[in-house]
Formats: sequence, C-alpha cells, structure tokens
Amino acid sequence: MTRVLVVEDDAQLARALMINLKARTYEVAAAHDAATALRLAATEPPDVILLDLGLPDMDGIDLIRALSGWNRAPVLVLSARSGSEDKIRALDVGADDYMTKPFSMDELLARLRAATRRLEESSARAGTGGAGSLVTTDDFTVDLVAKKVRRGDRDIRLTPTEWHLLEILICDPGVLVSQQRLLKEVWGPSHSTKTNYLRVYMAQLRRKLEADPSHPRHLITEPGMGYRFEA
Ligand code: CA
Repeated sequence: MTRVLVVEDDAQLARALMINLKARTYEVAAAHDAATALRLAATEPPDVILLDLGLPDMDGIDLIRALSGWNRAPVLVLSARSGSEDKIRALDVGADDYMTKPFSMDELLARLRAATRRLEESSARAGTGGAGSLVTTDDFTVDLVAKKVRRGDRDIRLTPTEWHLLEILICDPGVLVSQQRLLKEVWGPSHSTKTNYLRVYMAQLRRKLEADPSHPRHLITEPGMGYRFEA
C-alpha cells in the first residue's frame, strides 16, 4: 500500500485529501505544520509527500530543503502561490512536481500515480538491472540502456546534447522540469540563463520525434518555466 504524507494546515482541504486518498486505498498520514511533517517523515517514512507551501511554522520551500538529503519520497507541492518564481524555487530545492490551488482531485490523483509509478520503475530498475529501460509512446520508443530511439521501423540519430535533454525529461514522465535544471545539467551551471539553447534543441528533438512538431504531444513546453515529457 502506498503511504502518503499530507502536509497541509487548511483543515478542510486536508480532510478532503484524506477522504479521497483513503477511498483509493492509499494509506494517509497528515501533518498540519512543518515540525509534525519532519517528525512523521522520519518516523514513518512515506512513499509520497503532498506539501502546502504556506505553513504556520516554516516556509514550505525551507521544509523541502530540510527534507532533501534524507527523505527518499517524491514531494508534490500544492500551493496557492501561482507565480512561476515560487514553482521554480520549489523545483530547484528538490520538489518533484507542483500544482496550483485550486486543483481538481482527478488531476491530483493522476500526478500522484505518476509520482508513485516513477518510484516503482526506479526500484524495478535497481532490482533487475535493466527492466523498465524501455519508454514507449505512440510515436517513438526510447531504450534508456542501449541509448537508442526508434520511430516506426527506423532508428533516430540524436546528438549527445539532444540525448541528454531527452533522457532527463523521460526519466520524470509527466513532471515539469525547470529550464534552470535542464540548462545546469546539460550545459553546466554557468549557462543557467541561456534559455534560447533550450528552445533550439527542443525544436530539433520535436522535429526528430514528434508526428507533428508544431503541435507536440510528448515534449511539452510550459511557457517561461520548463518542459514536460508526456508518454
Ligand atoms: Ca496553507
């Protein structure tokens, strides 16, 4: 059973989350402040953490920072703050996903499934050495171990930079990856503002992989924020 830690000081929303999650057979623990969240994360390690940024005793960003390093569970931020700066800060300190309030319960459950699927896939990979290395979409298939991409019956050649970008996005399906993180990981920390690089390389990847590059279905742009891979 998947254990979810809900960190939310809004009692009504916390209760709604607990009812919905329990109805889908998740095991749920709730913390109404950061101190309780830290204690529960340490004593009853959850599989996923849903975290509100506006907490009474600590800023949620600082809580994510306090969790990083020892907490293994993906952190999904639920926030009333819709500014892209807050989203980027949360993603940069280690959040895995970000949803702006108000959100639909269906979308939350879908993101939660995506987060736990990644967890299962990474533990399956660790356990069997290679299982789960194949990522398949309607338009192309990526073999993460062999480092090969196939579209229909032909191999697609990617440059090392294109491959690196694709790999980062594909390893976190459904999750927004910030421009800064992509630039830092692919080009290095000194290039973290060169968003034009990303536009150029993402356009190339789309030309190679998408059926209709001008209406991408798999390599999605979140304007001003980053990119998301959807299988
Ligand atoms: Ca709050």
